[in-house]
Amino acid sequence: MSKVLIIGAGGVGGVVAHKCAQATGEITAITLASRTESKCRAIAEQIEFPVATAQVNADNVPELIELIEREKPTLVINVALPYQDLTIMDACLATGVDYLDTANYEPLDTAKFEYSWQWAYQERFKEKGLMALLGSGFDPGVTNVYTALAAKNYLDEVHEIDIIDANAGNHGQPFATNFNPEINIREVTAPCRHWENGQWVETAPLATKQSFDFPEGIGPMNIYRMYHEEMESLVKHIPTIKKAQFWMTFSDNYLKHLEVLQNVGMTRIDEVEFNGQKIVPLQFLKAVLPDPGSLGPLTKGRTCIGVIARGIKDGKRKQVYIYNICDHEACYREVKSQAISYTTGVPAVVGAIMMLTGKWRGEGVFNMEQFDPEPFLEKLGSMGLPTVVVEGGEWAELT
Ligand code: NDP
Repeated sequence: MSKVLIIGAGGVGGVVAHKCAQATGEITAITLASRTESKCRAIAEQIEFPVATAQVNADNVPELIELIEREKPTLVINVALPYQDLTIMDACLATGVDYLDTANYEPLDTAKFEYSWQWAYQERFKEKGLMALLGSGFDPGVTNVYTALAAKNYLDEVHEIDIIDANAGNHGQPFATNFNPEINIREVTAPCRHWENGQWVETAPLATKQSFDFPEGIGPMNIYRMYHEEMESLVKHIPTIKKAQFWMTFSDNYLKHLEVLQNVGMTRIDEVEFNGQKIVPLQFLKAVLPDPGSLGPLTKGRTCIGVIARGIKDGKRKQVYIYNICDHEACYREVKSQAISYTTGVPAVVGAIMMLTGKWRGEGVFNMEQFDPEPFLEKLGSMGLPTVVVEGGEWAELT
């Protein structure tokens, strides 16, 4: 019996529930719990396999413990928000259950993306013989696994990585984010950091831009350098990496709206007084923006997320580009969601299957690059996200 408890019934939670229900060889029972149980029930109704639902406030450890003790899962899949990572890890420790998430912990009042808080659980998970798998989405997640694959099969030493995330899709809305708007805007407006010669180099948010020619007919798009959390674990676990950068595409329209929202103070994450009430402008903005879930039927086009790894093979410089292309409309036909939630939810389920089947096993807190990439990528392909590897080619150094 492998029962999973999914926490969070947003865009990603919906995909995770659908995909767990397709993996009946490995997952035998599913409970979907979230703050608003009606959202769990709406997802459960789309799925033929029985999905039990529950209400939980994941900020509250005793409530989580009660839920876990009642449901008795083998694994908790956390696809709520990054703010809930530590409370859910605490509840897993208290109840002796393994843990998986897709985004690193962030305190509500500082947009600070770092693993320190979760890595601090290493000894506690180890002592209890439990496993926590951090960042099992696409980026972080599959991008870590692609880097591990480059290190295992294609390069003797990885020296540089460029993680490149393109959403070449269009939802037709004037301004909307493809996943939780609060988390998305906190990430995009944070100072940029990249790794160079053993240290983090900080630059202004989205200040470095260039054009990148994406494969398979997607063509050239502007990419902007920003900080992204997987770089922190990758440079720790693959110490030959001298330079690590993360790039994302943004349309001119998205950037124009974002600039105005920032200039007028709507992306602030501190509290302001409004009509005798304290509100956080970014949380208010989230409430008026389109729900990312509503973009599913509207979004057309593809995503292309991958890693260019460069280094040494047999004494010579070599590069390898490893990527996936995912089609928004195909995702919607399959699981009623666009590709951003799909490319996050499918790797979460594949990570869960790696843990449940013992293909990835360990005691303590782990990042994705610490395990064998091949069984993960094999399963990922069979569950809808195939991997393309392009060896050699032009030495495409992004500066
Ligand atoms: P959504 O905002 O769509 O969904 C979040 C869900 O969590 C909602 O159902 C929400 O409930 C629930 N939730 C929030 N707070 C609590 C709480 N205190 N207790 C219980 N439930 C709560 O977000 P997404 O589905 O887009 O994203 C989910 C996660 O995936 C995020 O952590 C995000 O950072 C991560 N992500 C990772 C990516 C990757 O590639 N690694 C890419 C994209 C996202 P309610 O409906 O009541 O608000």
